[in-house]
Amino acid sequence: MRLGQNSTRAFAEAQHYIPGGVNSPARAFGAVGGDPPFIDYGQGSRIFDIDGNEYIDYVCSWGPLIFGHAHPRVVDAVSRACSRGTSFGAPTTLETALARQVADMVPSVEMLRLVSSGTEATMSAVRLARGVTGRDKIVKFEGCWHGHGDSFLIKAGSSALTLGAPDSPGIPAGVAADTIALPYNDADALEQAIRQHPDQIAAVIVEPVGGNMGLVPPRPGFLERLRQLTRAAGTILIFDEVITGFRVAPGGAQERFGVLPDLTCLGKIVGGGLPLAAYGGRREYMEHVSPCGRRISQAGTLSGNPLAVAAGLEQLRMLSEPGVYDRLEAIATRLAEGMRANLSTLCLDYRVYQLGGLVCLFFTGQEIVDHASVSTADTELFGRYFRAALERGIYLPPSQYECLFPSLVHSDEDVERTLEIQLDALRAAHG
Ligand SMILES: *Cc1c(COP(=O)(O)O)cnc(C)c1O
Repeated sequence: MRLGQNSTRAFAEAQHYIPGGVNSPARAFGAVGGDPPFIDYGQGSRIFDIDGNEYIDYVCSWGPLIFGHAHPRVVDAVSRACSRGTSFGAPTTLETALARQVADMVPSVEMLRLVSSGTEATMSAVRLARGVTGRDKIVKFEGCWHGHGDSFLIKAGSSALTLGAPDSPGIPAGVAADTIALPYNDADALEQAIRQHPDQIAAVIVEPVGGNMGLVPPRPGFLERLRQLTRAAGTILIFDEVITGFRVAPGGAQERFGVLPDLTCLGKIVGGGLPLAAYGGRREYMEHVSPCGRRISQAGTLSGNPLAVAAGLEQLRMLSEPGVYDRLEAIATRLAEGMRANLSTLCLDYRVYQLGGLVCLFFTGQEIVDHASVSTADTELFGRYFRAALERGIYLPPSQYECLFPSLVHSDEDVERTLEIQLDALRAAHG
């Protein structure tokens, strides 16, 4: 398989009209080299580019497509909604059905607001935390990504990491001064920060499993201590479960690790591949979102869009069927075990992490616990491996700092074929 001329031409034209030719930076392949294939369509576990190349897809829209591309039940739900009108800006019963479904699945969520992106969810959750506590400062952890809100672009993960520019121009100094960035998995650092800034920290926001600097599991006790420290300090604990929600367990990382935050941000899977996200949590806090209580502002013309709600609700219903999470865990486990076997054959330094439906391979021998350990990975080798895999029909996330997102429609044959190709791609990259 060869990357084709149609994509090369399309990328050149796109770059003329769209910054970098893409509408989100990671898509430009800056971290791995080469031009991105332009996608024609997707079906199940596969995507097809405009040169007719076929790939087994481990990006799956960066996580939302947990049932793969164009699943008939999701397509049906969206089509039905679409034919009845694409947006009203007025309430519908389907929105309540989705809100109830989410509240039933996610342990700490009693009440929630639907928004259109994960970025909007985290920005709104932080505003709510500031509004109810009357405090300004927030704490985040280095390497965690919470979307592109100003307050979060301080030692951020994901695309900012990939581009080697953790701090973006355009962030007012005052905003940056209100964000305290601490090392991931370091609860002592939080204890210290709380001591240094008594009664000033509105919220601690964290990815309960690091998912935007590769996959960084929480150390035993880390989440529990965040919970204890924030409770004692009158600080609101926000879990950003935009990746982990409905992927590491039906109720997300909070269910898997048994630690309940005050507020939760959801995105990706909750929208079924359409633009929808949510923030929610304890009723005593959510009751202050406008038009209620203290009327903490948040609104959206397309919030709760009927197409997105229909897609999200259908996926969550499918996820609630028996055996689904066992199957997801089995797919991801087989993938991780097979990768470890391949890497051992070649005597490469590596770490492979897997948690629920998340898998990540790091080209480093170091244990991964935080942003510093992630940074020891060999990104040059990753780039060569990525390109070798792409040429052979495997579409991996185009960065060392991203997870693989296998779906429930990745068959056993898909996984075995992936592992065969991976061995070949590793040899090509290494040799
Ligand atoms: C993707 C992501 C976001 C941002 O969501 P968008 O829909 O891209 O704005 C926020 N937090 C986490 C953990 C994410 O992975």
